[in-house]
Amino acid sequence: MSGSRESYIVIGGSGFLGRHIVEALLARGDVVSVFDIMQRYDDVPFYMGDISDETQVSEALQKSGATCIIHTASPPHGIEDPALYWKVNVDGTKAVIAAAVANGVKKLVYTSSAGVVFNGEDLIDVDERLPFPTKPLDAYNESKATAEDVVLAANDVDGLLTVALRPAGIFGPGDRQAVEGIAKVLKEGKAHFQIGDNTNLFDWTYVGNVAYAHLLAADKLVPPTEKSDAEIDELLEPALPA
Ligand code: NAD
Repeated sequence: MSGSRESYIVIGGSGFLGRHIVEALLARGDVVSVFDIMQRYDDVPFYMGDISDETQVSEALQKSGATCIIHTASPPHGIEDPALYWKVNVDGTKAVIAAAVANGVKKLVYTSSAGVVFNGEDLIDVDERLPFPTKPLDAYNESKATAEDVVLAANDVDGLLTVALRPAGIFGPGDRQAVEGIAKVLKEGKAHFQIGDNTNLFDWTYVGNVAYAHLLAADKLVPPTEKSDAEIDELLEPALPA
């Protein structure tokens, strides 16, 4: 490692997952700030702004002194505004990358989604080798897939290292979508409808584990020359089965 202390900025840090990432960083004693279009907490430095405005992102990076960006921002799934998904997830992510490069930020962890490979049919025992479907499920998933491509294409270019994670259905304290949606269905008495024969599978991931995965991904983002032989062995070990 370089020896100097990492400073994190969590983009979307006022959100459900973003807040858990902030708390996980604070719990291990890290320096962390938040960039978001809305403020919900005031225990860490906060920068109000929209990721589709590169200048606002750049100013936050300069003021915060961030060396690692964890980018969790996105409009929620299920809104009828394809242009907003593209503006925030694709153009906004490009602006984050440009601002990172312009300010010498070395690391970017991006929250993608397991939905980027979902085409409406069952997917069992698949992994990241599965290509994106030719027809994206919806505008949200299309924009997340494109953003993921943009993030991975920026890896090891202009001094920036990047990684993208694909969580599935996140649940846990602070969730405002999954359980609220289920509760609404119950409240409206719609629970007597059943799709399928009760054997449907769905991936759920506890938010604390998703947050932890982001920290681990950030920790692993070191330039090849800074990796020890043991670290390279560790990275190679869980290689995907042939
Ligand atoms: P969330 O809505 O709780 O948090 C998103 C945050 O991003 C909010 O605080 C919001 O204000 C902020 N934001 C939105 N647009 C912005 C913009 N233009 N500039 C700056 N900030 C902006 O959502 P979440 O459930 O915490 O999801 C976090 C990430 O995880 C998203 O990228 C989402 O696509 C991804 N994801 C979520 C789930 C899930 O089940 N919740 C599943 C897979 C992937």
